[in-house]
Amino acid sequence: MLIDTYGRVATDLRVSLTDRCNLRCTYCMPEEGLQWLAKPDLLTDDEIVRMVRIAVTELGVKDVRFTGGEPLIRPGLVGIVERCAALEPRPKLSLTTNGLGLQRTAQALRAAGLDRVNVSLDTLRPEVFRTLTRRDRHHDVIAGLDAARAAGLDPIKVNTVLMRGTNDDEAPELLQWALDHSYELRFIEQMPLDAQHGWQRDGMVTADEILTALRSRFDLAPEGETVRGSAPAERWLVNGGPGRVGVIASVTRPFCRACDRTRLTADGQVRNCLFAREESDLRTALRSDAGDAEIAELWKAAMWGKKAGSGLDDPAFLQPERPMSAIGG
Ligand code: SAM
Ligand code: SF4
Repeated sequence: MLIDTYGRVATDLRVSLTDRCNLRCTYCMPEEGLQWLAKPDLLTDDEIVRMVRIAVTELGVKDVRFTGGEPLIRPGLVGIVERCAALEPRPKLSLTTNGLGLQRTAQALRAAGLDRVNVSLDTLRPEVFRTLTRRDRHHDVIAGLDAARAAGLDPIKVNTVLMRGTNDDEAPELLQWALDHSYELRFIEQMPLDAQHGWQRDGMVTADEILTALRSRFDLAPEGETVRGSAPAERWLVNGGPGRVGVIASVTRPFCRACDRTRLTADGQVRNCLFAREESDLRTALRSDAGDAEIAELWKAAMWGKKAGSGLDDPAFLQPERPMSAIGG
């Protein structure tokens, strides 16, 4: 299994399928985009499926989430999902997406074996969406959410980042909308993982602020310490339930002690933490004649060195070299 020196066991694998994206969220990347990975550096579909197979059959991984960049722009996505769903033991398969194109692919993804989807949506106002993402595609995200529901993906979670002065007044409105549509809304604190290094601790909207705003309109009861477990979101029952809302307070209430994540970047590097400054190259082994057992050993070694925490609370914190979109959020 993937254990580290603090006794944490990673059973949840995040696979980045591409570093490219069709939006330009201000908290993620600059308007002009980034220097994308070169095609030969990206793992092929076969290589990705092999890595997932090693993770599931040799290393105890149980949950696999495909992300990016924008995973829906990876041409082989449906085939990758289908092949991962055929693995024994079968991992739970989920996707984090901005929703663009989900209208066309939700049905095929469900049929291929995708279990769940998280769709990122920060605002209900098309003009605010345009400001935040620099693209006029709000209606596509809503259509993608509708298609996910029609395809039977369940639960559907919605990820929201609040940015001060842009959409930070929308928290209660977003929650009411999510409750009306039976989506589980999760607010994510803005993290210092943007390519432009524009994050400022005193500029971010904190979990406490979000909860205060929500409580102005809803009764929130904590679901209890035990429910959070290794899940990053603290969850609250809204108005007695069954609706819920989550807050992922990575900055102000980090959950590193319970972290069960391991990450694979689109170019075949294993990362033991979103905030790690080191990565372990597994692509070289994958493209040599290394067997599965050898790759599994390299993966174990990469996880063994995981640090106790993200270091965000340290004034000397240094952002990782790669932004969130290249690591896989
Ligand atoms: N493109 C897909 C999407 O937006 O859902 C998947 C990749 S994106 C990096 C994954 C999640 O990370 C999204 O919910 C996004 O809002 C979030 N995210 C991106 N940059 C962030 C940041 N600096 N702080 C907090 N969350 C961030
Ligand atoms: Fe793209 Fe997701 Fe980053 Fe927005 S948050 S720019 S949708 S990768």
